[in-house]
Amino acid sequence: MRVSYHEAYYVPLPEKHPFPMGKYPALYHYLLSENLIKTGNVVRPNEAELQDLILVHTAEYVHGVIQGTLSSAAIRILGMPWSSGLVRRSLLACQGTINAALMALHDGWAANLAGGTHHAFPEHGEGYCVFNDVAIAIRVLQQAKWIRRALVVDLDVHQGNGTAYIFRNDPTVFTFSMHGEKNYPFHKQTSDLDVALPDGLSDDGYMDCLRRFLPQSIALAQPDVAFYLAGVDVLAGDRLGRLNLSPWGLRQREYFVLKALHAAQIPVCITLSGGYAASAEETARMHAICYQEARSIFG
Ligand SMILES: [Zn+2]
Repeated sequence: MRVSYHEAYYVPLPEKHPFPMGKYPALYHYLLSENLIKTGNVVRPNEAELQDLILVHTAEYVHGVIQGTLSSAAIRILGMPWSSGLVRRSLLACQGTINAALMALHDGWAANLAGGTHHAFPEHGEGYCVFNDVAIAIRVLQQAKWIRRALVVDLDVHQGNGTAYIFRNDPTVFTFSMHGEKNYPFHKQTSDLDVALPDGLSDDGYMDCLRRFLPQSIALAQPDVAFYLAGVDVLAGDRLGRLNLSPWGLRQREYFVLKALHAAQIPVCITLSGGYAASAEETARMHAICYQEARSIFG
């Protein structure tokens, strides 16, 4: 497996900030220690190019982020304090997803050990998401004629509102979001297929929905590539989620998604998305389940 990773995916945040920045290095080191990745298969991204960012975002917003001139209201909605490190991290993570998508086309699957920042809209960021890396990667691949059609499988517990909005009128990109009905964002956008789940839903109910709606999404999308936003904030006890999956249920989910895409011979680019367990190490171990299942399926 080839993965995108850069040590600058981590930037320090103020003490007590709720975002678990430490999960990025924690996952990287855990995957290495478990032999799920090798250092030789880690591809370090450069910073994404402006011309790629503006395939999705307005030039005004991109400049505001890079130059640090966003309004205080915009920073508040984003949920993270501006810093030059945050800008660099956001640019690296975008390129990490672009690279992982290209590697997935080559290898059948690949991952970015960050990304899945699905709350970012063309003109603003929100919910800890600066740029919409998956949307940018899709546009880059389409522009280069590597792909025509794409499927976004967004199983983070929070709706992929930015992604849904970006592709709302685009028949070449199918957006599938399965999320907590009462979770953020409280004003949902319309994906091609939204499945809103009730509070406290556990493994069996969750898997019933997934078994019903994922095959349908694949069939309707007819994609050349799939992006899987494998957020682990569906787990019981997640600080920002309202569902009740067990680690075993999460493992079933990862197996089912990856197996279905593999069986349909669709290359898959995995991104991290959310996960807010008690510690960064625990969150990293839960993210790692996806890579364990991917290894068992793709080899
Ligand atoms: Zn989330």
